[in-house]
Amino acid sequence: MGKRVHSQEVRNAALRLLKERGVDIKDIAEIVYEMQSPYAPDLKLDACIESVLAVLEKREMQHAILVGVELDKLAEAGRLSEPLQSIIEQDEGLFGIDETIAIGAVFTYGSIAVTTYGHLDKAKTGIIKKLDTKTGKGVHTFLDDLVAAIAANASSRLAHHLRDEEEGRLDNGRHQEEQDAG
Ligand code: MG
Repeated sequence: MGKRVHSQEVRNAALRLLKERGVDIKDIAEIVYEMQSPYAPDLKLDACIESVLAVLEKREMQHAILVGVELDKLAEAGRLSEPLQSIIEQDEGLFGIDETIAIGAVFTYGSIAVTTYGHLDKAKTGIIKKLDTKTGKGVHTFLDDLVAAIAANASSRLAHHLRDEEEGRLDNGRHQEEQDAG
């Protein structure tokens, strides 16, 4: 049996892949801001950045990024077997596994995350639109959905935390949800 991969290594790889594929934390935070600012007039972009970073600490999210981006990269290099190569390269509309992987990573953050993901998948807000628009050789079949999942999770997390803050349910800077989760 191989050596167990350290969580830190997985986390760093997920963050590095996003950067390598042209996605900044700020790009994702801007989507979160757009989703949540109608409900929180005092919302600052910094709070959205903080929420995106917290979501990226979750293993479910990191693993989804590793799998999805790997497939994008292999398709981009023409290294998958047919017919999967063509399906992913062309971002075939009925494929759906890109969405399935992303949806798998939004369940942890509850119904707001799930419904926000559905909205982002349709509306293609911010950088999601840029990734979804096929330009040149870049394959982002999985990445657009992963970004939508990260943004949806960060939006849901923020919505719950803002309510906790309003109700004064924060203790030493730790949020109720995190305390509940241990
Ligand atoms: Mg896609």
